[in-house]
Amino acid sequence: MSLPVIARPDTVLPDVARDAIGSSVAPASGVRFVNAMTVDVEDYFQVSAFDAAVPRSSWESRESRVCANTARLLDLFAEADVKGTFFVLGWVADRFPALIRRIVDAGHELASHGYEHRLVYAQSRAEFRADLRSARVALEQAGGGPVLGYRAPSFSIVRDSLWALDVLIEEGYLYDASIYPIRHDRYGIPEWSRSVHRVERPGGTIWELPGSTLRVGATNLPVGGGGYFRLLPYAWTHFGIARLNASRQPAIFYLHPWEIDPKQPRIAAGRLSTFRHYRNLEHTEPRLRRLLREFPFGRVSDVLAGAALRGPEPLAVAGGRAVRNY
Ligand SMILES: [Zn+2]
Repeated sequence: MSLPVIARPDTVLPDVARDAIGSSVAPASGVRFVNAMTVDVEDYFQVSAFDAAVPRSSWESRESRVCANTARLLDLFAEADVKGTFFVLGWVADRFPALIRRIVDAGHELASHGYEHRLVYAQSRAEFRADLRSARVALEQAGGGPVLGYRAPSFSIVRDSLWALDVLIEEGYLYDASIYPIRHDRYGIPEWSRSVHRVERPGGTIWELPGSTLRVGATNLPVGGGGYFRLLPYAWTHFGIARLNASRQPAIFYLHPWEIDPKQPRIAAGRLSTFRHYRNLEHTEPRLRRLLREFPFGRVSDVLAGAALRGPEPLAVAGGRAVRNY
């Protein structure tokens, strides 16, 4: 398969982004350097690791905790005066539109996590497009504004599903945050560019915000949040983000509302999934408070505004492909 990527040497945001971001685009000298604070809004039973144990037909009848947990995150962000980007499931937006309004009214950016948490590489192109469109309708109806960003469930844009970037471009998306440049049993493109960059595809371009990593020897190690934030010591995340920021690279941090909920109902799944999902849930909130104190965070659009205004670095070659890093 031929892969992307010669990124377009744009130094300004496209009009659609400027419109969406509006007055928050400051002059070049006034752009504050921030890391991206992102939340994948889904309930505790909707994670991919529980797909086999929790059929979608049972979702409706389960105790929902997504509103309370997301509200808790909104409070934490308000206390720290941080605005972030919320990648929300269309399924959640259809059932809890008031939660979506609350996210938007607090100044956060609304983006898509798909409709019902289907892995991209488990769908056909047509199925992916249909899921994407359902999610957008639900999110835009509830949120009242345009949805321009996407993150796939479980980082499921991998080498075999890069066609999803073409669909996102065709559907008018401005950015994607679905590629993790690491080795993992369920996702990842280890040789993918580690920086925020633009990907050029036959039908156009799209910003990519890869999951954050540190390069150690010949390996990329994840420092971007989620399970890595809970399972590894806090010092690892701090070290990783500090290293990235020292080279003016923003970290793309992510977490889920269920990760601050130690009292969520337990679901019987395999040993590895159980470990990954439940370990250290009680540590997430205090760690998050600390993280919010120790690093500057903002929305994806704030990161893109900074990247676009800084302009691209010279072409680099990653994994045999040319990439223009920002
Ligand atoms: Zn998810």
